[in-house]
Amino acid sequence: MLELEEAQRRILSVVAPLDVEKVSLEKAAGRFLADKIISPINLPPFDNSAMDGYALRAQDVATAGPTTPAGLRLLGTVAAGEICSIEVPPGACVRIFTGSVLPAGADAVVMQEDTHADANDAKLIWILDTARTWENLRFAGEDLKPGAPVAQPGDCLTAGRLGLLAAIGFAEVPCFRQPTVGLLATGNELVEGGSPLPAGKIYESNRVSLASLVSRAGGVAKIFPLVKDTLKATCVALEAALTECDLVVTAGGVSVGELDLVKSAFQKLGGEMEFWKVAIKPGKPFGFGRWRDKLWFGLPGNPVSAFVTFLLLVRPAVLRCQGASNFSLPLRQGTLVESLANPGDRRHFVRVRVDDLARIHTAGVQASHILSSLAEANGLVDVPPRTTLTAGTSVNVLNWE
Ligand code: AMP
Ligand code: MG
Repeated sequence: MLELEEAQRRILSVVAPLDVEKVSLEKAAGRFLADKIISPINLPPFDNSAMDGYALRAQDVATAGPTTPAGLRLLGTVAAGEICSIEVPPGACVRIFTGSVLPAGADAVVMQEDTHADANDAKLIWILDTARTWENLRFAGEDLKPGAPVAQPGDCLTAGRLGLLAAIGFAEVPCFRQPTVGLLATGNELVEGGSPLPAGKIYESNRVSLASLVSRAGGVAKIFPLVKDTLKATCVALEAALTECDLVVTAGGVSVGELDLVKSAFQKLGGEMEFWKVAIKPGKPFGFGRWRDKLWFGLPGNPVSAFVTFLLLVRPAVLRCQGASNFSLPLRQGTLVESLANPGDRRHFVRVRVDDLARIHTAGVQASHILSSLAEANGLVDVPPRTTLTAGTSVNVLNWE
């Protein structure tokens, strides 16, 4: 039985980033960059005003105040987007707006609220405050200079990073392709929702839940029809999925029963098993293998086992296919409200709910068929074998919500 980290390492060692495609920024949220990005321009591109107000020479308002206003001649207006041809001489000002180009000659902006126009002479502006040189101005290249590194290969295109790329003129960027992830569920007992439940059957629940985790990890989920527990049906379904998808995730049929046929089917198709069984709870009978250039992940069928093994063992591969530089689940520190005991000999990933004050509550019954505690949970705590983490202890939670 493999340790979790060894299993993760063996999976990642055979996953390579997929091909590169150009993606428009509008569609690139959450994608991963395939190349480094360098700024081609100054950002901001030119010196400009940070306020609606008047551009002037700071020296002209050195003694200005509410009772000692400085009167300046208004030469004109520069709206945002206009090029300013006026050079501001001593004793004069120019009406200016946030983002307008700073006129030559001016070295400060006084905000509108500290000024007023003369009651009789619209060309006379009274300035009621002093200005430091370069006050209320934003400078060319203050954010980025030409040639400055903006992003690295493997960086995720977050909302902020997309805004930065747009601001330096990019319309599209090179990203790694998103993997298609085929999702299969095996079991004679499974039926599709939306119809009455026959005796002895259960509604299938893994594919939609895994599909949501796939898309959160940036993959494109493809749900396949339910698969009966026969070698033939399993081979046919698995071969179709492996042919059509980059990664294939099966749920169920990887344990030790006579009807657990997924491993045999995979091998019958010529797939090479890389390993079977990982020392974690839930999720021990997890299997992984290669078929041509495709990868198969065999998840146990119990819904919590499938969910947890996906997060720990499949999610990193989905991210690595997209060239991501970070595949870890986000960690959040919190304090245990209740003790978490693991008397067993495998690490137990316990479903917990972390509240807004970082207090960690167990999410309910921890058996691997209990879906209500999965629905309640927003994280997992890794409890080592034969260990009790007592209430009040500060621990890390692996987050997925
Ligand atoms: P297996 O891994 O096939 O031995 O299944 C273990 C348990 O999980 C059994 O109780 C199955 O009925 C249940 N199970 C397997 N696959 C699914 C599924 N896709 N949806 C809901 N329950 C499942
Ligand atoms: Mg089964």
